Amino acid sequence: WDGEMAPRPKKPQPKRPGKGKSSCVGALAEIQRKREERRTLQAQEKNRKDAELKEHGDDTGYKFRRLIKAFRDTLPPRNSKQIVPVQSSSKLCVYVRKRPLSKKELAAKGYDVITCLQAKELICHEPKFKVDMSESLENHQFSFDGVFHETEDNDMVYKLSVGPWIPSLVQGNGILTVFAYGQTGSGKTYTMKSVYRQAANDLFSQLKAHAKGSVTVGVSFYDIYKNGVCDLLNQRKKVQALEDNEGVVQLLGLTELPISNETMLTDLVDKGEASRITSINGVHDDSSRSHAILRVTLYSGSQIGGNVEARLSMVDLAGSERACETQTDDKSTRMEGAEINKSLLALKECIRAMDRGAKHLPFRQSKLTQILRDSFMCETSKTVMIATVSPCSEHSNHTLNTLRYADRLKEINSRDD
Ligand code: ADP
Ligand code: MG
Repeated sequence: WDGEMAPRPKKPQPKRPGKGKSSCVGALAEIQRKREERRTLQAQEKNRKDAELKEHGDDTGYKFRRLIKAFRDTLPPRNSKQIVPVQSSSKLCVYVRKRPLSKKELAAKGYDVITCLQAKELICHEPKFKVDMSESLENHQFSFDGVFHETEDNDMVYKLSVGPWIPSLVQGNGILTVFAYGQTGSGKTYTMKSVYRQAANDLFSQLKAHAKGSVTVGVSFYDIYKNGVCDLLNQRKKVQALEDNEGVVQLLGLTELPISNETMLTDLVDKGEASRITSINGVHDDSSRSHAILRVTLYSGSQIGGNVEARLSMVDLAGSERACETQTDDKSTRMEGAEINKSLLALKECIRAMDRGAKHLPFRQSKLTQILRDSFMCETSKTVMIATVSPCSEHSNHTLNTLRYADRLKEINSRDD
């Protein structure tokens, strides 16, 4: 059998519905309809975008601004009178000051991402995009001893934060240290210059009224840049910082001048600020890279060098954003960044330890904290931290960093979510 297989009978095919000439036309029509639908939608979207562009131009943040406004509209009006000086028992007070948007920021369509709630709370609205690319806000709430709104002026900031502690200095009691922390351009120097002036004013008027014996007020102004100390009242001359037998750092040869009124102090500050920005070696021409310390000491007796009765140190810290410059290609900038980072972290740790009442403080971790050792170690020392923030959307990341730093100085605080 040569075995040629008989062809199998064909299976009957099931009849497909809609097959045939007329169903083909139907499918094409459907495709056509869908295409047109898509085109109409695309045209509508384009018209909407064109209209938006016409209305808002390059103002890409208007949706975020609208969301922030909607949030604020739900809030009760702010009553700044509720900010009150903190209890005298507390060693550490932390404040945040928000500056107004600058003309430049407004011109660049920047918008305000900081909402001050009542006296002690604020919210930083972080602009975010959802997965579908729609705009949303992540609201970070913080709580401090006081929050100053952009319309609250230098007088108010001083009266509530630093002013309440001056009487204890006049009574010859302890050490007060005031810090301004924040990004470059956030208002540290603006705030501190007013603190210098008003503190001197209060000191002299209170000394006149209450001083028990004769008191001499001495002023030094220096900055710390890359671990070196420079005398701002003596053409940025290098000053040696040496630890004495008791572990206290002495600044050898640092200029200290007697003053007897507020104007003498502001004149010295102006002189020092000028030498801070015009450096001697031409490399360090940016005041945001150094910590500037104005030290006012009350000596008993009629000259500088007597018994130290009290000390007020006012510190305009290096720009906090510099601490992030540890990834740049420029070696010098990277080293500066690392040094600033180290000192700001050491400062945080020392303040936290002081606030906790810890016995050992990590003040040896940086020159800044080593020099300010007594500000953390003394029984009677008080610390006021004023964190300054820019309200501008463009800086929201740095602003959040500043708020987190300030928030973590105190053990007990409402945390960022
Ligand atoms: P920083 O010392 O932190 O780099 P500045 O103190 O130099 O910042 O402030 C930057 C700019 O913003 C300055 O022009 C200053 O006058 C202005 N400024 C800062 N804070 C305020 C404020 N609270 N109100 C008005 N202007 C301010
Ligand atoms: Mg400054």
